[in-house]
Amino acid sequence: MVIRWFTFILGAALLQSLSALSPVPIPEDEWTEYWRMLRDPAYRLPTTTRPSRYVVSLTPYFNNVTPPIEPFTFDGVASIYIRPTQANVNEIVMHCNDLRIQTLTVSLNNQQIGLVNDTYECEPVYSFLRIRTTEPLQMDSEYVVSVTYTGRLQTNMRGFYRSWYRDSSGFRWMATTQFQPGHAREAFPCYDEPSFKALFDITINREADFSPSISNMPIRSNETLSNGRIAETFYTTPLTSSYLVAFIVSHYRQVSTNNNINRPFDIYARENAGRTGDWALEIGELLLDAMENYTNIPYYNMTENINMKQAAIPDFSAGAMENWGLLTYREAFILYDPQNSNNFYRQRVANIVSHEVAHMWFGNLVTCAWWDNLWLNEGFARFYQYYLTQSVAPELGYDIRFIVEQLQTSMLSDSVDSAHALTNPAVNSPSSVSAHFSTITYARGASVLRMTQHLLGEETFVKGLRKYLNNRKFDVAEPNHLFEALDEAAVEDQALTQYNNITIDAYFRSWSEKAGHPLLTVSINQATGEMIVTQSRWERDTGVSSFPSLWEIPITWTRAGAPDFNNLKPSQILTEQVTTIQRGTQGLEWVIFNKQESGYYKVNYDQNNWILLTRALRHYTQRIIIHELNRAQIVDDVFVLARAGVMTYDRAFNILSFLKIEDAYGPWIAAITGFNFVAGRLAYNSSNLQRLQDEIINLSTGITQRLGYTDSGSDPFMDGLLRMYVMTFLCNNGHTECMAAAKQNFDSWRSGNFVPANMRPWVYCSGLRQGTAEDFDYFWNRFLNEELASEIVVMIQAAGCTLNQASLERFLNAIVDGNNTIRPQDLSTAWSSAISGNEENAMRMFNWLRSNINQVINNLGSAATPISQIASRLRTEAQISEFQAWLDQNQQLLGAAYNTGIQGITTTRRNLEWAQGRTTEFVKYFDTGYLDEEIEDIPGTGEGGDGEDGVPDSANIINLSIIALITTVAINLIA
Ligand SMILES: [Zn+2]
Repeated sequence: MVIRWFTFILGAALLQSLSALSPVPIPEDEWTEYWRMLRDPAYRLPTTTRPSRYVVSLTPYFNNVTPPIEPFTFDGVASIYIRPTQANVNEIVMHCNDLRIQTLTVSLNNQQIGLVNDTYECEPVYSFLRIRTTEPLQMDSEYVVSVTYTGRLQTNMRGFYRSWYRDSSGFRWMATTQFQPGHAREAFPCYDEPSFKALFDITINREADFSPSISNMPIRSNETLSNGRIAETFYTTPLTSSYLVAFIVSHYRQVSTNNNINRPFDIYARENAGRTGDWALEIGELLLDAMENYTNIPYYNMTENINMKQAAIPDFSAGAMENWGLLTYREAFILYDPQNSNNFYRQRVANIVSHEVAHMWFGNLVTCAWWDNLWLNEGFARFYQYYLTQSVAPELGYDIRFIVEQLQTSMLSDSVDSAHALTNPAVNSPSSVSAHFSTITYARGASVLRMTQHLLGEETFVKGLRKYLNNRKFDVAEPNHLFEALDEAAVEDQALTQYNNITIDAYFRSWSEKAGHPLLTVSINQATGEMIVTQSRWERDTGVSSFPSLWEIPITWTRAGAPDFNNLKPSQILTEQVTTIQRGTQGLEWVIFNKQESGYYKVNYDQNNWILLTRALRHYTQRIIIHELNRAQIVDDVFVLARAGVMTYDRAFNILSFLKIEDAYGPWIAAITGFNFVAGRLAYNSSNLQRLQDEIINLSTGITQRLGYTDSGSDPFMDGLLRMYVMTFLCNNGHTECMAAAKQNFDSWRSGNFVPANMRPWVYCSGLRQGTAEDFDYFWNRFLNEELASEIVVMIQAAGCTLNQASLERFLNAIVDGNNTIRPQDLSTAWSSAISGNEENAMRMFNWLRSNINQVINNLGSAATPISQIASRLRTEAQISEFQAWLDQNQQLLGAAYNTGIQGITTTRRNLEWAQGRTTEFVKYFDTGYLDEEIEDIPGTGEGGDGEDGVPDSANIINLSIIALITTVAINLIA
């Protein structure tokens, strides 16, 4: 499954930023439920019986029914073939949820056996279906559990659920599925855990005027039933987990097809989708080929008759789902219109398709045994969605973007003491799950795999993975299966001999079973070349974690005198807290650790090295000697070090001053993320915020000079994407030329002219911000008539930018109108747009909420989302008091949202204090600008003055390391 990312950036954004271009929310209750299931053994099925095959026939009803059939229900008939796994089993337990069981029998050799009960229900909470037999089941015998039942077409985008859309015939109902993690049980009784793999024979009995139904496998046979319905039976699936089963009942058409009978690949969507499925087909075929070559396991041989289909679903809770042979997506993530979808969506379609295609091997063929090792599915899918796509579409820049979109984002979410490990997560509360589970599992997993790839070398890594897949195919896996296969390949290729024959098992466990990640503090004696490297667990607010930890860190480094950023094979593995490394040269020379940010760790240096790096970065020719990814690393590390107070902001901004001549993608995206965080914190004081914005505009000289303000249509892909992000950021920060360009293009768009898709996010937003109520009305009418999902999302993201109060209220009213003006899947994007469009929006939204609180609660169930958003954007004590008073007055009405609001206020107060405490550092830099600091005294280097011995700053760092070491020892003793 693909879920959202960038959410951590979003939380910190002052105004709409690039993060706003990444939707896909997961409802909080989904994570809570997922979490409960994961931790509590009471939710687990016994393994005393196992299924081998399901034969399921479903008859769905929409609104066209006659009593006693109820609309939006379905009839089901299921035969489940099972065997006991041990002697004396007299209870069969499987899952069912929200199904009404009508009849249930169990047979052996076509003879019904005795059952204790004659009525059955899906037990609440654990959703178990318990079938007690009068006699124990016989070993080595196959039983058939036959069930007839009715179910409901759900409305919450889970299970077997209903959705709607409009095509040239008007309004259409449809039904589709989303079963991960545990919703197959809402469609048929089943062993709804990943380790119970079985074969599935699905039949759908559809109304005659519907299109042929779609499922994992192609249709094997069909017949017309006496009631006029068409029964379509699909070929038997491969041996699969229940969460990977899927079916769609709709009026869909094949909108794109490769017409290849040997390797069939088709795109399904509503019939008016035009040619927007072509890109997903083109890139999908390339990716499927690439993955077959990579794994050496052909997809089309996984089982007989298998084909590949992708379908665009109007209402979809996740981003996409890897059902075997039937990948399902939100429309915006698969339907791409080259004229009207921007570059974000071009790459997003490609990499989400890549993610799902990779799952056919990592996830479907070999499945995590339980959800606590979900990273075995998702870490790989996230990894390949970048690096597999990079191999077939290098112009889309996935190697650059992995660093800023995945690695840096996951390190940020991973650097809190409550973070959990990849395996056996030990998160403390359900609420921390929704905040951390997704990013850590997906992005951290992918980042550690990338580090392992470079440790082993590509060939050995691939060899090991092929062993893993072949050993575990059509089965489930635990992490040790992966480690054993990689170790076997490593021994064959002698890939780890240079590291004292460390094993992948030992190395990987230090990354998968521990939470957090290390900071390396590097202190260099420039005179002797001796480098002292200290590792400690990083914590983002204080710099020091309360839970010290050591990792086995494969390191890479290079130096100014012989820069080599391309060899990513680690020079050694650090296992100790403090390690001394010889640079091998004497005299002043910068070093950079973590080449291309290939390792999963952050780096801080002593002052002298930072000064040397800053000078190089500010130099036109020396700057580009440093790899773009390391420039992005420096920007990110510096912002993060400053946030924690390990580096002062004046020093951080001194280093970041090189951005003025920087014009590359990686460093700028890292900078936008960092500046958005800082701007969010400086927003409590408008004059400080203004000075920050002046500095941002000052630093944007190089990048705006290179990119300009207009999409040329012939730009390299990455430039079009970067311009979209940079202009969104600069317009939001009051950049005059950006705003003028936005206004001019907005007016031109209002006059009916075409505006390139890449420009629309900032042209719409800044145009509305500078525009009138009439401008908003025009914009809103265009929105109401828009059919392209990616454009709909872009427009929702811009709608909150209006500064007209009545227009903002029109937008807010639409969010809660209960008429699907904004689909449920887009609601969180809409709220986020409404709150973050302008600084003024928070209080305007609060005033609106006071008058509309009942409608919000009635139509959305809770006011938690707007309340938490308003709380996070209050700027003064007066605003906080006013908001708190309102919360108190309405405590009863607000329910759980009351606590959300109070917690939000606490965080805001803390941030306000933080800002007050750190202001002098910012002001210091704003007053002086860049200062060329002097290198501290280094004997024998010709630098420095009065010959005091030692290297003061380095010495301080060493002292700090020693203090950290003592603290660690003390805490370990206590533990
Ligand atoms: Zn996935």
